[in-house]
Amino acid sequence: MSFTIYNTLSKQKELFKPIEEGKVKLYLCGPTVYGLLHIGNFRGPIFFNFARNWMEHIGYDVTFVYNYTDVDDKIINKAIDEGVEASEVSERYIAAFQEDYKRLGLRPHDHNPKVTEYMDEIVEYVQKLISEKKAYEVDGEVFYDIDSYNTYGQLSGMKLDELNAGQRVEVDERKKNPGDFVLWKPAKEGEPSWSSPWGEGRPGWHIECSAMIKSILGNSIDIHGGGIDLIFPHHENERAQGEGCTGCKYVNYWMHNNFINMKGEKMSKSLGNIIPARTFMDEYHPEVFKFLVLSSHYRSVLNVSDDKIEQTFSGLVRVYRALKVANDIVSNFETNDSAKVNKKFAESLKSLDKKIEKSVNDDFGTGELIASIYEAVRAFNTLGLEKKKKDVNSVPTANAFKEWVHKYGKLTALFDEDPAKVLSEINTILLKKKNIEASFVEELLAKRSQAREDKDWESADKVRDELHALGIDFQDTANGVEWSVKV
Ligand SMILES: [Zn+2]
Repeated sequence: MSFTIYNTLSKQKELFKPIEEGKVKLYLCGPTVYGLLHIGNFRGPIFFNFARNWMEHIGYDVTFVYNYTDVDDKIINKAIDEGVEASEVSERYIAAFQEDYKRLGLRPHDHNPKVTEYMDEIVEYVQKLISEKKAYEVDGEVFYDIDSYNTYGQLSGMKLDELNAGQRVEVDERKKNPGDFVLWKPAKEGEPSWSSPWGEGRPGWHIECSAMIKSILGNSIDIHGGGIDLIFPHHENERAQGEGCTGCKYVNYWMHNNFINMKGEKMSKSLGNIIPARTFMDEYHPEVFKFLVLSSHYRSVLNVSDDKIEQTFSGLVRVYRALKVANDIVSNFETNDSAKVNKKFAESLKSLDKKIEKSVNDDFGTGELIASIYEAVRAFNTLGLEKKKKDVNSVPTANAFKEWVHKYGKLTALFDEDPAKVLSEINTILLKKKNIEASFVEELLAKRSQAREDKDWESADKVRDELHALGIDFQDTANGVEWSVKV
């Protein structure tokens, strides 16, 4: 099996080799907790949840660390505005994050360290950098000396003179090089602070991740992830700290996920198009969100448009409808000994497994995985089992389909809910978009049934046309009328 990962440092796909046989140490930079996270912030958590599941699926034992930055200017400023302690703000938004994360059905991480819990380790780390002559102190402030690290800039591809030019605005005479960054800074009046050999203060942003990595995972880790906006300066600086402190290679594979754009534009405060993840989940559905994220490759920009959302709804409905058919068949029978899985169908599932393995092992090609799930649904629908729900011979095939989708559902955190429940939730969302009440649809359907009972075919047809004009699909089944909103 060949499993490759694109490494931002080498700018190419590399064969994955773990530091320790069979194990993966994975660290993903977490949020600064001062507000609700928007959909772009969740692309990393959704994708890396899948990446971890996949690596476990192919046999690795993964330790996954995701931190909370609970010491930061933005948190402090918000706390001052609200007249509360900084910890109140950070705890509130950690809880909000965890609520959203749970709603997405993503697996808990192995460790969720907070900066405030790692102050001793951070101070120790800065001391070590000073003793290694990688950092220096001026007036209670400690800076990293980037000239002491000769591959500084290699991860982001930034040249030192470009960096210096970028620093023109902020000239700090105390720095040896304008690109030197802060490891420890003195606290201002009223700010939370911790004691250190350089006086009361608090850490700079970058040092926390290096200190947590060293404490929890060790000197070197296999994979460090984050959004591409973190490559510079955050990860560039982390790398300098990590290798400056321990002399070991800090990270073997740097993985960065791209942005989410809304309708062709980058999300930004000034454009007013930032959508909190929970608003998106209320308006659409958590499954729609995950499906969107995993349909495109993590390194490409994900453009969320109305068309794309509509396609996603229709894709989800297709998968869940097929799962519902399979469920109905299976639940019609207690046991089945005589029948076998449709041979051709079993073969197509097997060949889709191979296709998925190949694409996901090639730097996590999740788009092909989603496309393969569609293919399996198509193959299942072609068998026409919907009309043979009461046929005991359909059971093994329906079961095989359910189990197959379930296997990938576990990895992707998709298609793992009760199909009837999701289809009904999607119906509600789509009706709301059309401004139609479900009770109104039920009323029309009852009217049609009555007309049919009265053999008033003309009225029955009229109501049918009215329902179709509203975009309502329906079928007469043994269990009554089943209806859904057209997507
Ligand atoms: Zn970080």
